[in-house]
Amino acid sequence: MSDPSTTSGASAKSAADGAAGNTPTIRLEGVHKTYDLGEIQVHALRGVSMEIYPGEFVAVMGASGSGKSTLMNIVGCLDKPSRGQYFLDGKDVSGLTKDELAKIRSQKIGFVFQQFNLLSRTSALENVELPTIYAGVAIKERERRAEEALKRVGLSDRAGHFPSQLSGGQQQRVAIARALVNNPSLLLADEPTGNLDSRTSIEIMDILQNLNDQNGLTVVIVTHEPDIAQFAKRALEFRDGKMKKDVLIHRRSIAADILPTLPSPDEEDRLEAIAGTEPAAKPNGSSAPK
Ligand code: ADP
Ligand code: MG
Repeated sequence: MSDPSTTSGASAKSAADGAAGNTPTIRLEGVHKTYDLGEIQVHALRGVSMEIYPGEFVAVMGASGSGKSTLMNIVGCLDKPSRGQYFLDGKDVSGLTKDELAKIRSQKIGFVFQQFNLLSRTSALENVELPTIYAGVAIKERERRAEEALKRVGLSDRAGHFPSQLSGGQQQRVAIARALVNNPSLLLADEPTGNLDSRTSIEIMDILQNLNDQNGLTVVIVTHEPDIAQFAKRALEFRDGKMKKDVLIHRRSIAADILPTLPSPDEEDRLEAIAGTEPAAKPNGSSAPK
């Protein structure tokens, strides 16, 4: 990351420390992960140490195979380090059992995947409700919470739709609602925009920025796209299972500022864009760019 809009590693760390001055949400100490495939061992993480503080918005970057998903799975309590320690909100969770990890996950962490991972024969509302069942929320409360989460991602009017009746961007918003339904303090998203077009990707980043800015959620995303990483506040770069760079993003992209400058998603404007004619001025006086 030689981008001039970023600053060097040392300042990223001290700024994060200074801004928070409290217990890191995520602290990794010398984390290794080795996948044992019988004959061969894949050393996916090779000694990763880092701290992420409450309210941060971090983008994890790096080539395919560099260990990003392995990192996210450990941070998300879906997997455990082979060696080293992971402290979540100050508590060492590296030695916990699968059941103990699952419980912590359902209380503290929301996870969003590139492939959305929605149940196909289940409505949007029921998909969002699922984690509340695992968390033991009372039946009446479940639906209320799921409706509220769908509202937060602007999808109240699609509650009864099945995933196949929703666009990719809408499916990812359902997945974000599902990740929010148990009120986590940490939202993790592994390539959340990897299957989406650029406008839809920015709409997803808008939701994540709002959750981070207005609700104080700590957000960590994986992306290989520099344009997407630019929406975060800090970026980490992984190579061969190691963290190679840690930079603050000081010319951050703000999705809410960019979206109104993009061509409108409705068909009329798209046709005009193809035809190369200027769409009519918008009610606020601005005209959509070509
Ligand atoms: P990234 O998300 O950056 O593409 P991953 O964390 O998925 O990287 O993978 C890091 C390395 O670990 C790769 O060499 C990958 O093939 C290997 N790996 C990932 N998951 C497994 C697994 N479940 N079993 C064996 N090897 C794996
Ligand atoms: Mg991956």
